[in-house]
Amino acid sequence: MSVRVDPSLMKELEEFGLKDANKCFHCGNCTAICPLSTPENPFPRKLMKYAQMGLRDKILSSPEPWLCYYCGDCSDNCPRGADPGEAMMVMRRYLTSLYDWTGFSRKFYTSEKFEIIAITIVGLLVGLAMWLFHGENPDMAHARLNTVWPAGAIEIADLIMAAVLTFFLLTNTWRCFSFTMGDLKAKVPLGLYVTQAKEFVVHFLTQRKFGECTDRMQWFVHLSIMTGYVTMMFLVIVLLAGGLEIIGLAWEPIAFQRDVIYPLWHPVRLLGYYATAALLYGTTYALIGRIKKTKAPYKNSHSTDWMFLILLQLTVLTGIFIHFARLLNWPMTTYVLNVVHLMIAVPMLVLEVPFAKWAHMMYRPVVLYATSVKEKYLEQQR
Ligand code: SF4
Ligand code: SF4
Repeated sequence: MSVRVDPSLMKELEEFGLKDANKCFHCGNCTAICPLSTPENPFPRKLMKYAQMGLRDKILSSPEPWLCYYCGDCSDNCPRGADPGEAMMVMRRYLTSLYDWTGFSRKFYTSEKFEIIAITIVGLLVGLAMWLFHGENPDMAHARLNTVWPAGAIEIADLIMAAVLTFFLLTNTWRCFSFTMGDLKAKVPLGLYVTQAKEFVVHFLTQRKFGECTDRMQWFVHLSIMTGYVTMMFLVIVLLAGGLEIIGLAWEPIAFQRDVIYPLWHPVRLLGYYATAALLYGTTYALIGRIKKTKAPYKNSHSTDWMFLILLQLTVLTGIFIHFARLLNWPMTTYVLNVVHLMIAVPMLVLEVPFAKWAHMMYRPVVLYATSVKEKYLEQQR
């Protein structure tokens, strides 16, 4: 099989944040020390070689960038300061841009100006829509969000946004799966895809591999952010949109962030508190880590790393302020905070989920699943 060498690859990867990979002299320390590297899929040295040699196609079909959880052990032990952990992170950004067929992801990752303008435009459009479509008679005596933005309209907007995001995320994920499977995609029998599906579920829900790294704190922080985020998505998309009512499973009209204030013990309120606490803890830990640069994964921060954490934390903080403003019955404060909250939360969802950082929530378990399918298939062929 011919291998295409592209001398411009290194330059291209630098646009995604690569800095020191040229310093690597292939001693192999990093691969020996990596707790997640295996004989079948050794890394990160192999990927350093691919980058230096310009093997673009090899990187595109490599599962290894997604098998790395960026614990930083390899970077701490590289005698050349080539920062292989960061190189793996850069490759994940690069792969995310290759999976995205719209080309938006590449622009987002390679231009800070584009990133800031895109977020600002989406935020302003949300603010404009909320101003144009507010109800006629806002309740100024009681903090009732649905007198300003009727629940039905919010639910429809929410479902449309969910459908658009799902379309882009799934089409990009399909490309990720296809590139990873390569020629084997058509050869593997359907039954094997089905029996290995549990791998996707386990890795999606538990991030189990990350738990095998030496720094278990990083795993805990990652898990907090992921579970907090998934819980929040469930509350917003399934419950805010009245999803349980739609599919006939609600035993009572359940809704998140409508004008209902549930008792403290209610599952919706408890889930909301869990998501808030998990996200606040995870984002605060990661932001402090990036400011102090104490651990290898936090030493090199790309603008998209900052943007992701800042938008997520602001979404949580404005959500908390709305909650208290409603409980204290401050109508105008509640309404203004709600506009600010959505002007932050919507750009984060619309831009990060299908095109940037959040997409890895799908890509990583999908690649782990594809890798397990491939390994099982090749084992059966022996
Ligand atoms: S990245 Fe560092 S540790 Fe890994 S092979 Fe290169 S020089 Fe050695
Ligand atoms: S950052 Fe950790 S998981 Fe990733 S390659 Fe380095 S040692 Fe392995």
